[in-house]
Amino acid sequence: MAETVFDVVIVGGGPAGYTCAIRAGQYGLKVALIEKTDKLGGTCLHWGCIPTKAMLFSAEVWDHLKHAASYGIDGVETPRLNWDNLLKRKNDITIKHTKGLEFLMKKNKVTVFNGHGRLTGPAKDGVHTIHVTNEDVGKPKDAQAEGYDKQKPTEVKAKKVVLATGSDARMLPGYKADETILTNMEILTLPAMPKSLIVIGAGAVGVEFASVFKSFGAEVTIVEALPRIVNVEDEDISKELTRLYKKRGIEMFVSAKVEKIEKIEKSGGGAVVSFTDGNGKAQTRSAEKVLVAVGRAPRTYDCGIDTVNIPLERGFVMTNEWMETTQPGIYAIGDIVGGLPQLAHVGAMSGLVVAAKLAGKYARAVNRQRIPGCTYCDPQIGSVGLTEAQAKAKGYDVKVGKFPFVGNSKATIVDSHDGFVKVVSDAKYGEILGVHIIGPQATELIAECVTAMELEATVEEMMFTIHAHPTLAESLLDGFSSVEGLAVNV
Ligand SMILES: Cc1cc2nc3c(=O)[nH]c(=O)nc-3n(C[C@H](O)[C@H](O)[C@H](O)COP(=O)(O)OP(=O)(O)OC[C@H]3O[C@@H](n4cnc5c(N)ncnc54)[C@H](O)[C@@H]3O)c2cc1C
Repeated sequence: MAETVFDVVIVGGGPAGYTCAIRAGQYGLKVALIEKTDKLGGTCLHWGCIPTKAMLFSAEVWDHLKHAASYGIDGVETPRLNWDNLLKRKNDITIKHTKGLEFLMKKNKVTVFNGHGRLTGPAKDGVHTIHVTNEDVGKPKDAQAEGYDKQKPTEVKAKKVVLATGSDARMLPGYKADETILTNMEILTLPAMPKSLIVIGAGAVGVEFASVFKSFGAEVTIVEALPRIVNVEDEDISKELTRLYKKRGIEMFVSAKVEKIEKIEKSGGGAVVSFTDGNGKAQTRSAEKVLVAVGRAPRTYDCGIDTVNIPLERGFVMTNEWMETTQPGIYAIGDIVGGLPQLAHVGAMSGLVVAAKLAGKYARAVNRQRIPGCTYCDPQIGSVGLTEAQAKAKGYDVKVGKFPFVGNSKATIVDSHDGFVKVVSDAKYGEILGVHIIGPQATELIAECVTAMELEATVEEMMFTIHAHPTLAESLLDGFSSVEGLAVNV
């Protein structure tokens, strides 16, 4: 039987890899997808976006229940947290969507190999070979390639290769994750709700877990090395989240340096975190659990990258705008790529771009300034484009508008008045340079702003775009109008 040569083989079945595979299949390419675990979905579906948002939803409902009487609902004054059921719901959502991915692979004729893929060197006669072994595969799945023996190593051949191997949680040097010192993985399977939590790192992952556990009543302390929490966001957003987290009773230290984490061996367990605070003062805090959320390291080891001439920068693969590496025929997408934010939708869009390019179809490169950044804490954050400081640093004649949710009637209805919409624009032509939202459904609202920027709408055009009433989206109409000092509802 003639050996199968796929048009493209994708290594890694997370959102970057599976999205690329589906779209390549839709274009009629012959596609193979190699995933080292027995489940498609990657960090996003199993340990990231989806399970955390399921927990955040439970936390949101819980927070609403605290005010049930004021909404005219009696009889729920003493709600009880059922941690097992909360985890079960989170797991059920993940299982449902894992099955959905298996269906989509079959629907789009993607051949899935459950095994660890490694490049074996540059292409020979235009064909790349990926060595696939089964050492990390759990329970075998039936969505495997026909004739592929999961017990034996195999070789998958393809004209093009897409690397999408994702990332791992970084740990503080000298420590290992266990039942007390946690990463995003261990914290998602805790047997019980901890009474106290120290979160090291106040990026999106850190502040989201802080939000969940605070809602459920844990004592939460955040220790952040940088001068402000959610450091990638506009400064006003960091200030507002700091104010609101303080109001929620979350203790925060910024510009703080963690010195050590010591586990408490006596009964009760937990750990003591010693750190130097922003004023140079030595501090200690103890808690039942410590979450280390200090970023994600690209998984560019042990996938055969060293067999081809692809240089790495701090472990990341560098690509051009079409996600091509320096090695002909090898592309990289998702969390392993340097210079792009490590977000599921960035990886997925990069996968769509590569698939279109491989199929010879129309494609637009990922534009760094059009990537929504979403943090699903309470209140939520959604942002796109330049911050005010970045716009000024780039030399724009910056004009800013700000509209508080306190002036939005739907925000009153949903009992969520904190936060604002901030629009950063260029005074000269009214170009929208960035939008920064903190408040109810900010992660949904930001989609309109991304579209507006993608279509190069001006502030004026957005001021005359009709928004339904009463909606949270009307806060955007007021937000854009506030650039000209013309917000109606303040
Ligand atoms: C707690 C948390 C919350 C998050 N929340 C969000 C969010 O709300 N929104 C958002 O956009 N992003 C979020 N992220 C980030 C998001 O999860 C990642 O950006 C996304 O998963 C990256 O996708 P990827 O496909 O590049 O990699 P991954 O999702 O890591 O998938 C890579 C896959 O490749 C497989 N693999 C690795 N090496 C090999 C190999 N050699 N052979 C075969 N298979 C291999 C892995 O098993 C894995 O399945 C969150 C992350 C965390 C940790």
